[in-house]
Amino acid sequence: MDDELPRALAERGALLDGHFRLSSGRHSDRFVQKFRILEDPAIVERLAATLADRAREFAPTVVVSAAVGGIVLGYETARQLGGGFKAIFVEKENGVPALRRGFALGPGDRAFVVEDVVTTGGSVREVLEVVRARGATVVGVGVIVRRQPSDFGVPTIALLDLPVVSYDPAECPQCANGEPITEPGSRFLAR
Ligand SMILES: [Zn+2]
Repeated sequence: MDDELPRALAERGALLDGHFRLSSGRHSDRFVQKFRILEDPAIVERLAATLADRAREFAPTVVVSAAVGGIVLGYETARQLGGGFKAIFVEKENGVPALRRGFALGPGDRAFVVEDVVTTGGSVREVLEVVRARGATVVGVGVIVRRQPSDFGVPTIALLDLPVVSYDPAECPQCANGEPITEPGSRFLAR
């Protein structure tokens, strides 16, 4: 799967080559369009199968993710872990990450946290905080694409490492070549 994965993602338009302005304001020649992965049940099934297989050694009891993209991945990972596994997710409540909708989590629960694409790792850290605030244990983290090294303090599985290379606009070689820039903002993401 590891060798095939970049090709499978590229075929779905999930790995875009071009000239992009990232949310940080920096420029990059590559962008991961994660919903080209998450909209495709066939590849989500395969990716979640790998994450579920790797997660079993940590003996999790529940899968926790972050809304919105993580909901799809978390659901499928929990389904493949088998009977009794639930998939719950963290979302913002008045701007603060929280477990809503009556999701139950507490001491004795062992959470496997999944995320689609990790760059700074901020959304994963928010999930870890919410899980631990309930008294539950985080046993591991599983991600599809990791854009830069992240130490979450627990075993972390990344199916694909794709280090982000970005430039200050003043030093961007593509700007120097006069190449037009694409802004993959929320409208572009939502398409
Ligand atoms: Zn540029």
